Amino acid sequence: MNTVFTFSDPLLALAEKAEADAAEQFSRIDKIAALHAERILSAMIRQKVSEAHLQGTTGYGYGDLGRETLDAVFADAVGAEDALVRHSFVSGTHALTVALFGSLRAGDTIVSLTGAPYDTMEEVIGIRGKGNGSLSDYGIAYRQVELLPDGMPDLPAIRQAVRGAKAAYIQRSRGYSLRPSYSIADIQSMVETARAENPDLLIIVDNCYGEFVEEVEPLAAGADLIVGSLIKNPGGGIAPTGGYIAGKKKAVEQCAYRLTSPGMGKEVGCTLDFNRQMMMGLFFAPTVVASAMKTSVFALSLFSKLGFACYPAYDAHRTDIIAAIRLGDEQRLCSFCKGIQKGSPIDSFAAPEPWDMPGYDSKVIMAAGAFTMGASIELSADAPLRYPYAVWLQGGLTYPTGRLGILSAAQQMIDDGLLKL
Ligand SMILES: *Cc1c(COP(=O)(O)O)cnc(C)c1O
Repeated sequence: MNTVFTFSDPLLALAEKAEADAAEQFSRIDKIAALHAERILSAMIRQKVSEAHLQGTTGYGYGDLGRETLDAVFADAVGAEDALVRHSFVSGTHALTVALFGSLRAGDTIVSLTGAPYDTMEEVIGIRGKGNGSLSDYGIAYRQVELLPDGMPDLPAIRQAVRGAKAAYIQRSRGYSLRPSYSIADIQSMVETARAENPDLLIIVDNCYGEFVEEVEPLAAGADLIVGSLIKNPGGGIAPTGGYIAGKKKAVEQCAYRLTSPGMGKEVGCTLDFNRQMMMGLFFAPTVVASAMKTSVFALSLFSKLGFACYPAYDAHRTDIIAAIRLGDEQRLCSFCKGIQKGSPIDSFAAPEPWDMPGYDSKVIMAAGAFTMGASIELSADAPLRYPYAVWLQGGLTYPTGRLGILSAAQQMIDDGLLKL
């Protein structure tokens, strides 16, 4: 065959075994994809999506039917009363920022129920950096409930901590840590515990990487708002940028006043030419997420057979698309990322280098040969160069190409003399 890939025979034999062991997990993944695909298709039919909704507007964007219909379809798909799906969210961090600033007022307290938040949220909250207009600069207090030694939420401490708080913050996915990602059932326990103490608490979930992985989204577990990025799961690899906020109508409205301006909220914001891609991306999202999930499970199965500690186990219940592999040192991290990059459709010839990324406090190496810059629903690997020297791996628009990317990473480590088979 006319291929650029050459993998060693023992690696291919191990890959076959890794895939065979993952068969049951693959079939669960397909069932969940089918469920979400039916939900999204039903939402599109119910909302009578037409060609007109795929067209954009310019200027103020008054009466943009595509924008309104996309919000309605998205809300329906994730079990929300309303949604704000916009190309003008520049990233997940921006959508989370809008959700926090839209929901909180001076004198309020927000409590993280899941320990330290994702790196980029530290400056938003004001844990790190002062004077940039963080929540803290505006007089909004923050506290966090530390996780138990096994990385699970500390329910009794949550009960104490939410007393008198306005809002609670839950991060579903593990971020750059090796703590577990929290399932919908885990989120439900946190929500029930917190609400038992403080019934009016507004619960905001950072849902990044979790969309369409389980049967329902955190709103079904009682959260008020979920927030995420369109260059992750719900953009289906087609949305070229953007983010979303979805949940209770009133809570979404408050966020809309922050995204645009008080009084205008959701009524403005032109969509340019993005409606088609955002709608189509949502349509593709369940099967693209399934491809990313299979790529993730394959990687976990293969690298655990290669002797590395993997999080979570390949056959574990999944709640996000992230796989973390503890490679143990900087050389292996760099070699792994080099291999992922080499096996990518775009910029395969580039060699990733560690750099000081804005928003992160240690050097990070990133492999991403993606159609959309930085899109992590596409196969990508990031590793902060710090203990425990783990690589965080996510995405894969198609399973066959995701699988090749993973094999390319393993082969690179073999070629660099960092892995023996
Ligand atoms: C990706 C991610 C974010 C947001 O990151 P952006 O790069 O700004 O989109 C926030 N929280 C978690 C857990 C994430 O994985």
